Amino acid sequence: MASPFSDVVVLRPGDAEGNRMVVRVATHDGTDIHAVAVPQDRPSRTGPTWTYLVREEGLTLIDAGAIGSFSHLADGVRQAGYEIGDIDRVVVTHGHADHDGAVARLLEESGAALWAHEIYAHLLPYDRWEIQRRAGSLIQHEMRRIIDANVAGRDSRGADEYRAQQREYLQTRRSLQVQHRITDGETLGDLTFMHTPGHSPDEICVSLDGMVIAGDHVLPEITPHPTTKVSYADEVKAKLPVELQDSDSSYGLDTYLKSLKAVADLGPNVGLLPAHRLFNSGRFNLQTVDRAGEVIQHHARRLGHIIDKIGPQRVSLEEITRGIFEHRRLIGGNFYMAVSEVVAHIELLQSVGDVDVDDDARLQCTGSENYRQFIADLVRP
Ligand SMILES: [Zn+2]
Ligand SMILES: [Zn+2]
Repeated sequence: MASPFSDVVVLRPGDAEGNRMVVRVATHDGTDIHAVAVPQDRPSRTGPTWTYLVREEGLTLIDAGAIGSFSHLADGVRQAGYEIGDIDRVVVTHGHADHDGAVARLLEESGAALWAHEIYAHLLPYDRWEIQRRAGSLIQHEMRRIIDANVAGRDSRGADEYRAQQREYLQTRRSLQVQHRITDGETLGDLTFMHTPGHSPDEICVSLDGMVIAGDHVLPEITPHPTTKVSYADEVKAKLPVELQDSDSSYGLDTYLKSLKAVADLGPNVGLLPAHRLFNSGRFNLQTVDRAGEVIQHHARRLGHIIDKIGPQRVSLEEITRGIFEHRRLIGGNFYMAVSEVVAHIELLQSVGDVDVDDDARLQCTGSENYRQFIADLVRP
């Protein structure tokens, strides 16, 4: 079968990581999608945020980049042949700072309408910790404890600046009004929106003519960070529509894996337009949604690895995290990312009965490996 990327034109080259690149990709139906790589406003290993412009019922921009990156976005949009004022709507793939940070400024300067998944609109006023009920599960309690013990007071240089930027971001987010709340399966002309929660509760993918603009749901080269489970704080839950009140349908590794399967099922030759790493190390990563299947297998291997590391003895979450990531320097934000990644996997293993968590939050394998059946059931065609 022909590659979904038979017509890719670089309108402006960038650096080796793709920063400031502008690319035109034509779908098999001849629709142009412009991809604009917006540099991050602080050092990041994910590289620029790839935002996408599509002319469909007016001009749609998908994602906007980080809060301090608006000028790069505006410049890239011009390189693609448009003005900021031409944008009719901005679709936010999910509520992370490198995707919706520049949205407030964009709305101000363009008069565009903000579109996002309905759960994005509901969770806008809260930061990550406010969403969560204070006393969650034992394993989450332990996660909070060891993060506080390892991260507090040991931040790397630039942490104050980062916190100030983060405060500004959260403040501008609170001022946003979502004009259109997207629901799963909704269409706009030839665009179809899918709710694909797991990396973030509000993650959406947008498909068009054999391509899918996937936000952070599926990335080349790197595996997106899955969420841990959430039990909503009472006041958060009270405001959610009934169909979104079950947090298990928006958070957790099992939810993420199901959303990966949904994208893999779009078809064997559907092109992947990710929000990061479309271009890196001086070359394009032009992949299909088969990448979603690879990410599922990565997590299957990690589940097995965690079972092996825990073994029959009772061990602590911190020991397991340091064992799994033994080759990484686990400081500051890295420690948080590592431990929450491990917790997401342990929650799945606990739910299928492979790992037991005792009252002191120590972990022990039960001897079963039911996770294998879970994965086999999940990937079955
Ligand atoms: Zn993200
Ligand atoms: Zn991102």
